[in-house]
Amino acid sequence: MKNILTTPDPVSSHWDCPECGGTGTLSPEICPVCLGAKYIDLATITNWMLDFMESRGCDRAEIDRLRTESPDPLTLTFCLEVCIALK
Ligand SMILES: [Zn+2]
Repeated sequence: MKNILTTPDPVSSHWDCPECGGTGTLSPEICPVCLGAKYIDLATITNWMLDFMESRGCDRAEIDRLRTESPDPLTLTFCLEVCIALK
């Protein structure tokens, strides 16, 4: 059963790149995550957040579950904050 809100809002289809903070560069290189575009799409930010959670040592089973469910970024942000708060 899925309980995920899908919003057709076009504004939420692009997100400021969290890796470079929306600047497009990680000095002196072009940002490897958004490739200088300064923003990333939904699939990319989902992967970025899951990788980030993994790098912070968050629960592997939880991350695998989130990968399968592909929740929206707001849900992911919440999970990420919870995960880091528990550390
Ligand atoms: Zn970037």
